Amino acid sequence: MQRRQFIKSTGIISLASIVPINLFSQFSHSLDECNQLDISNIGSLISINKLETQTTTVKCNGTNVKIHAVQTGSVAVKKSHLTNRTIRFLTPLKISLDKHFTEFMPIWVWVIEHPEGVIVIDTGENSNVMNPDYFDPLGKLAANYSKKNFRFNVTKEDEIGFQLGKLGISNDRIKNVVLTHLHIDHTDGIKDFKNVEIIVNDQEFKRPSGHFPELTPNWFKPRTVQYKKDFMETFAEAFPITKSEDLLLIPTNGHTRNHASVLFKTDECDILFAGDVCYNQEQLITNDVPGININRKETIKTYEKIKTYSNNNKMIFLPSHDVNSGTRLIKKITL
Ligand SMILES: [Zn+2]
Repeated sequence: MQRRQFIKSTGIISLASIVPINLFSQFSHSLDECNQLDISNIGSLISINKLETQTTTVKCNGTNVKIHAVQTGSVAVKKSHLTNRTIRFLTPLKISLDKHFTEFMPIWVWVIEHPEGVIVIDTGENSNVMNPDYFDPLGKLAANYSKKNFRFNVTKEDEIGFQLGKLGISNDRIKNVVLTHLHIDHTDGIKDFKNVEIIVNDQEFKRPSGHFPELTPNWFKPRTVQYKKDFMETFAEAFPITKSEDLLLIPTNGHTRNHASVLFKTDECDILFAGDVCYNQEQLITNDVPGININRKETIKTYEKIKTYSNNNKMIFLPSHDVNSGTRLIKKITL
């Protein structure tokens, strides 16, 4: 196997690490609450194929701020992406041999109507991924791997641009798009943000894993940012996205070398938009590291930091593919 092909194939696998486990067990542990949780409603809310956009309002510096949970379609991958103990080098083979797919899982995008301008966190998938030749620009090996090991369900109406239109949010209202990392299910919606400043952690952009420039618009030139040192507790480094420093890009390495999350510090509680730190909250709680990680040790360190921070601060934890993330946001259910 040529080196270039191998890099592409392992990259594809890395991008596919977008899958939750135990989708329906998120609420089995004890929960602190930002607001009162109505347990009786949870069962009816767990349905992933078509979740309507959900909106909540939080107080931020005394001002009401709307946050939207937007589902840009869904994805299923092999179950061995969820969790396995195989050494990383052999994981691609294990996944290829796995005959079982997961349930379809949501691909969340988060939209914050911040007083300084709308912030969009990640961009989700676009419907072109449904075309059989979508992955062909990646070369035969990577394209075949992708077709075999991923299933997407994305319509034109699921795309972030379409859904922002339904919310009445035009691009001139958007201050920033912020990317947690550069896997396609987080970047394929970039096409809808041509004249918007897109923020990516500098190291993630310089040293990505599983990023395919062939699938991003040729005008994609993000603003790369560096963390400020000793900026905050627990995570130490952070980049303030807003002037009011209530919205922070913070390092949550592991899934990719320099994966980042977005922490929103509201008057009520903190909210962590966690990208692919893990696939669901249960994995974090049980220290179940997903099957595919660029760095398993870094993921464990990130888990510990998130749990330490949430012990000291009421915090809602929202991975990008957790079927219950939208519910936890709307009901303000903290970790
Ligand atoms: Zn990812």
